[in-house]
Amino acid sequence: MTHNNPGSHTDRKPRVGQVKEITSLSNPIIKDIRALALKKNRDRTSSFMAEGLKLIIDALDQDWHIRTLIYSKAAKSNAAVEQVAARTVAHGGLVLEVSDKVLSAITRRDNPQMVCGVFEQRYAGLEDLHPTRDETYVALDRVRDPGNLGTIIRTADAAGASGVILVGDSTDPFSLETTRATMGSIFAVPVTRTDIGGFLKWCNGQDALLVGTHLAGAVDYRTIDYGARPTIVLMGNEQAGLPTALAERCDRLALIPQSGRADSLNLAVATGIMLFEARRHLLEVPR
Ligand code: SAM
Repeated sequence: MTHNNPGSHTDRKPRVGQVKEITSLSNPIIKDIRALALKKNRDRTSSFMAEGLKLIIDALDQDWHIRTLIYSKAAKSNAAVEQVAARTVAHGGLVLEVSDKVLSAITRRDNPQMVCGVFEQRYAGLEDLHPTRDETYVALDRVRDPGNLGTIIRTADAAGASGVILVGDSTDPFSLETTRATMGSIFAVPVTRTDIGGFLKWCNGQDALLVGTHLAGAVDYRTIDYGARPTIVLMGNEQAGLPTALAERCDRLALIPQSGRADSLNLAVATGIMLFEARRHLLEVPR
């Protein structure tokens, strides 16, 4: 992690004139930020919004590019907020001090966090991913639910997975609902996207074990040797499950045995079970 040295220029308070005060919802900058609720505007500007001071500090520490920092008047003299504001200015970003009404409108919440930021989107290139031993990737076929995707990114982070690969037409990892559900892990886990053809081509170029999960899977997920090669855990779409073109390429089709009346597990829950099993030999209780 890169922290600024005490006393460096980025530790100083932003100067008068570097912070814009805004109280009106009709201010064009606020309108542009509110427009990020729509995917087409996030795509057009390649940006997204994230909330919470800790999360923004983590993002800056991990070299994510902040375009705009927004904080409520109540957070004005908080030393950590001042420092983040100074870092934003130092990186050429805009700092806005806004009324609670404006902050609620931006975040679409009655009790919003006191700080939020607009960041540049970042996708990892699939061609740059070369799984090595002890690495695990999660590939998601057409994930549709933003809460599922956010929970999976957070779980991948917690399990020590190296990245999440979105295959096909997926929900936006940079929507507010998804980033909220990641609880900051959106800044820690590389996310990449591709189509079925691109995914299969990439898989064929890797020496990795592709474990698909399927309700018709013949292999108990607990019996697979996840330690011999890097593993790619492939999960099916919430409604349709894995399509044949993907299922056929899998080295194993794993089933998580169930009892009771439920037909299947929720996608994020099934992904969590698979990831922690695939990485069981690598995870230890800290002493
Ligand atoms: N109706 C879908 C089907 O027939 O596959 C159910 C999909 S399930 C909600 C979403 C994904 O979670 C599945 O495609 C699979 O990847 C995974 N999954 C859920 N329960 C599972 C289980 N018991 N064993 C293996 N994978 C499971």
